[in-house]
Amino acid sequence: MVRYQFSKIVRAINDLTRHQQNHLFDELKSTLHHNKVVQTLEERLEKTNQCPHCESSSFSRWGQAHQLQRYRCQHCKKTFNALTGSPLAKLRNKEKWLDYAQCLSQNQSIREAAKSCSIDKTTSFRWRHRFLENSSQAKSPEFSGIVEVDETFFAVSEKGSRTLSRSARQRGGVDKRERDQRVPVVILRDRTGAMADFVLNYNEKEEIHDCLLGLIRRESVLCSDGNEAYRSLAEKENIPHQPVIAKAKRRVVDDIFHIQNVNGVIQRLKNWLVRFNGVATRYLESYLGWRRFIESKDHAKDPIAYLQAAIG
Ligand SMILES: [Zn+2]
Repeated sequence: MVRYQFSKIVRAINDLTRHQQNHLFDELKSTLHHNKVVQTLEERLEKTNQCPHCESSSFSRWGQAHQLQRYRCQHCKKTFNALTGSPLAKLRNKEKWLDYAQCLSQNQSIREAAKSCSIDKTTSFRWRHRFLENSSQAKSPEFSGIVEVDETFFAVSEKGSRTLSRSARQRGGVDKRERDQRVPVVILRDRTGAMADFVLNYNEKEEIHDCLLGLIRRESVLCSDGNEAYRSLAEKENIPHQPVIAKAKRRVVDDIFHIQNVNGVIQRLKNWLVRFNGVATRYLESYLGWRRFIESKDHAKDPIAYLQAAIG
């Protein structure tokens, strides 16, 4: 637009009614947010520089679709855009995604986020789980130094679903979760802040071993409570083990070996979950991932960081 035309528009703002000014403001905000979302998506593709179908880096621009640049892979001949293969693919109203990410950064419930973004509750529910889908997988792959481990429990909740999600793993006997009405979760944290958590079905030694095997480097020291699963894991993995037994008043050994950091994580997690009035067991992993994101990132208040984490 030529300069004098633009100046004319700016001058005309004063002649608008309050209602028209608000309307214009909303339109402008919506456009800016949409552009910011598209820019974030395109940056992600530039960074990965890969066709999501075959991982080839030979692709070229191939028109526009759904307000996004489309590309065509020269290797597999398929077309894609920056959202292909991401949990946010096919979600509509991109102009509201940044607001939704902001709601996550403010720890809003599904209902609150629906109100903030002027979307219905069903959409808010769908967006919540799409935005958090990647976070449940984003765990630290390796732990070193002093590695603290402990388990905690959550009430089994069928909130929002008719049937309780069950593990596909088959084993004889009754699912322990069903019997105890509690879901066991094992949580790891080292002193650099690396974190991982695992939702368990049985809370048995073998299951804990399956989750933690290969995660802890040999030169580390594993700190845990007196649970036999950790002692045997350390022995199996040939990792030094330092049990701290609260009942025996040995909460801290040699001034450095303790599980107070991981217990702090658990305490903060439990306090944080209160605002959601209970989380359905089938979505527990998503919420654990979200909490890990808050615990591990300095920029957890930045909506763009949530958007980037959501698209992977
Ligand atoms: Zn390809």
